[in-house]
Amino acid sequence: MDILNQDIKYLPGVGPNRKKMLSNELGIESYGDLLEYYPYKYVDRSKVYTIHELTGDMPFVQVVGHILSFETFPMGPRKERVVAHFTDGTGICDLTWFNGGKYAKQNYKIGTEYLVFGKPTVFNNRINFTHPDLDDASKVDLTAMGLQPYYNTTEKMKKSGLNSRAIERLTKTLIEKLPPQPETIPDFIYQPLHLVGRDFALRTVHYPQNAKDLERARLRLKFEELFFIQLNILRYASDQRRKFRGYVFSTVGDVFNTFYSQYLPFPLTGAQKRVIKEIRKDMGSGRQMNRLLQGDVGSGKTLVALMSMLIAIDNGYQACIMAPTEILAEQHLQTIMGFLKDMNLRVALLTGMVKGKRREEVLEGLLDGTINILVGTHAVIEDTVQFARLGFVVVDEQHRFGVAQRAKLWSKSTNPPHVLVMTATPIPRTLAMTLYGDLDVSIIDELPPGRKPVQTTHVFDSRMTSLYDGIRRQINEGRQVYIVFPLIEESAKSDLKNLEDGFEVLREAFPEFRLSKVHGRMKPKDKEEEMQRFVRGETQILVATTVIEVGVNVPNASVMVILEAQRFGLAQLHQLRGRVGRGADQSYCILVTPFKLSEDTRKRIDIMCDTNDGFRIAEADLKLRGPGDLEGTQQSGMAFDLKIADIARDGQIVQMARDEAQKIIDEDPECNSEKFSMLWNRLRQLRKTNINWAAIS
Ligand code: ADP
Ligand code: MG
Repeated sequence: MDILNQDIKYLPGVGPNRKKMLSNELGIESYGDLLEYYPYKYVDRSKVYTIHELTGDMPFVQVVGHILSFETFPMGPRKERVVAHFTDGTGICDLTWFNGGKYAKQNYKIGTEYLVFGKPTVFNNRINFTHPDLDDASKVDLTAMGLQPYYNTTEKMKKSGLNSRAIERLTKTLIEKLPPQPETIPDFIYQPLHLVGRDFALRTVHYPQNAKDLERARLRLKFEELFFIQLNILRYASDQRRKFRGYVFSTVGDVFNTFYSQYLPFPLTGAQKRVIKEIRKDMGSGRQMNRLLQGDVGSGKTLVALMSMLIAIDNGYQACIMAPTEILAEQHLQTIMGFLKDMNLRVALLTGMVKGKRREEVLEGLLDGTINILVGTHAVIEDTVQFARLGFVVVDEQHRFGVAQRAKLWSKSTNPPHVLVMTATPIPRTLAMTLYGDLDVSIIDELPPGRKPVQTTHVFDSRMTSLYDGIRRQINEGRQVYIVFPLIEESAKSDLKNLEDGFEVLREAFPEFRLSKVHGRMKPKDKEEEMQRFVRGETQILVATTVIEVGVNVPNASVMVILEAQRFGLAQLHQLRGRVGRGADQSYCILVTPFKLSEDTRKRIDIMCDTNDGFRIAEADLKLRGPGDLEGTQQSGMAFDLKIADIARDGQIVQMARDEAQKIIDEDPECNSEKFSMLWNRLRQLRKTNINWAAIS
């Protein structure tokens, strides 16, 4: 048996109890899992600073000295803060415990030399270490410490003594037992890239001798991780291309031309024209189109989608557009019927709410080909909906529609339809490459003329009265206002109560206006009704949860107030802001928060006030939160259980992995040549153990 498959409980120092903890908390079941549980940082422990040198900006450091005295400050009924005053002769600093202070007082002796390790901060004009590590200085050999790895652990693990140090001891044991690890990438590929071998990399990443080796080890492991992901995506795309031909839409005919010359209500922007051309070319190529259309909120993606659908119709095919929610599907239906009202085309709606006889009519119309355009929710791809000649599918506002979801469309007909995925949340390039690796990308980077950028301001919740005055002024000028409450969990009772209470407060604050209220727990029919009242201008204020986040279009609404803005992510804030600024009037977005904010929240708010550029926001979001937290990406499949690479920071390595993978697919499109057998074997092995990868095969 491969030692990597060995049950982790047999590793010296583990045993049944720790095995349970490792498996429950970190998903580590085998030696191999532990080997791939990489440190998240390293600290140089050969250097000792003097207290005099320390500043609050330094990362983790260590000092050697002794405790002068302890001081205890009560914090609430049963808690206390314990501070030790500590000196090394060059100055005095504080060591602080908010938890475990009692233990510190009992265990650390006044006058004993300790090696203190921690992150210095400045508090009350003095250097402070919160919850530092202390070791008896006479018992540590500094020169042997070198780079110390740090492993993520959970609170639960720390409580039972399974902290980073403990994991470090386990990986060290493992590395000592480990026979040389086989290569997964042929040397004629990795050596020209100046990458180190796999065995060296695996050992060094846990147990680095010096910083340079560590860097090389990490680069190799990051490359390997990203490379096999790219290879898998490209292999899949190449496979699909060989198996299926795309429909050839050779003509642009009457339908398109009539619409373009007679019914287009405004000139297209340059960006819209360019993108329609790209799509047209793709659809005529004989290759099945898989295209991602990125364009900021309000950039006019719907019209591009519509005109592309007209090309499908011109070639005798049906088209379908899918929205993530029923409200949005209905709004698309209205928009599309509005554009096409004077043309002789049949447009139908299919959502969970379309039932009984109406549903049967739609299903019939799809099957006999009389329906030209179907507007629906994503349920359409899951359903038993059959088309006569489905040639083109548009997926709107959806970053969850990755490779695996698109694969479902294949089953709808012998030839796969052309697919256009539209998103208003710009996905940074490196992420797109991983998430939608086989897609071509079109970008609308220009807004329709006459739009004034939304002005964004940050207001503390202690200043609501003046905020209300501002809202009142806007409404008196004829505008409408959104007020959004955070309802992160649509099901959380406390959040709903928050909204209900807030609604009452607002109703009292604005007795002279009419208010609508929508949230995710309302019946779809009631929700739609309330929404429509606002759309028709019968109510001036729409109090809502994030159900309005995507797509809703009310050009007369010029103010977006987001309450408890600290609870929203950047992508969400940007989406919400996109609901205003759709008419000719100056629009405003007001972010309301409490006075006390975390550093990350402050950064998010600052970025929002600073820019309307969706791409900048997406980049910042990726950096602040990491890809795993990006909205929707958890479900998007693959790549987000990355073990060492970081999509936000390792863009160049993503590119390098992509280029190498592409070269191999070009040389061996059927993925079976002996030359690359090491790669194809490894890929098969990975696909067996990774559920997300298996989902797209
Ligand atoms: P999004 O890209 O966010 O889906 P929409 O397609 O909803 O944007 O378009 C936003 C608004 O801009 C709509 O009211 C639409 O009719 C309008 N619009 C689209 N293209 C143009 C254009 N070329 N000139 C003027 N207005 C446009
Ligand atoms: Mg849209």
